[in-house]
Amino acid sequence: MKVRTIHRPKVRNDSQGQGHWQAKRGSRKHNGVDLEADVGSDIIAEIEGTVTKIGFPYSQKSLTTEKKRLKAAFRYVQITDKDGFHHRFFYVNPSVLRYSEVKKDTIIGTAQDLTKPYPGMDNHTHYEVVTMVDGKKVFHDPNSFIELEN
Ligand SMILES: [Zn+2]
Repeated sequence: MKVRTIHRPKVRNDSQGQGHWQAKRGSRKHNGVDLEADVGSDIIAEIEGTVTKIGFPYSQKSLTTEKKRLKAAFRYVQITDKDGFHHRFFYVNPSVLRYSEVKKDTIIGTAQDLTKPYPGMDNHTHYEVVTMVDGKKVFHDPNSFIELEN
């Protein structure tokens, strides 16, 4: 399944949690939306902008357990649009390079496998929208940039 952020992707809802914006995560709230994506499927972020970062969602510092080693392999792709919003797609094996320009039909990578470190979780890309205000991250509701199936 392709994730097309303006073509009604489906939000994750599995035994490990719900993927909608502001869903409960313990004492915190989910700061993005989780869009279902089968392992290896193309991730098409229908956002125009520049790839400003290929990052690691989790710390690389202490790989003391198998779960931490699996999590260390995850990547994210950050696309910055003309208005300065940073669109971040997590658990994506990148097929774009930093500083490349992306259009609305660009494949930015393929979905990684979350089920090994997180049994019971449906594979998905975590999509969050961030701006920096006074050096701090401010998260925005991604639903203003996408149209969901559910
Ligand atoms: Zn998420």
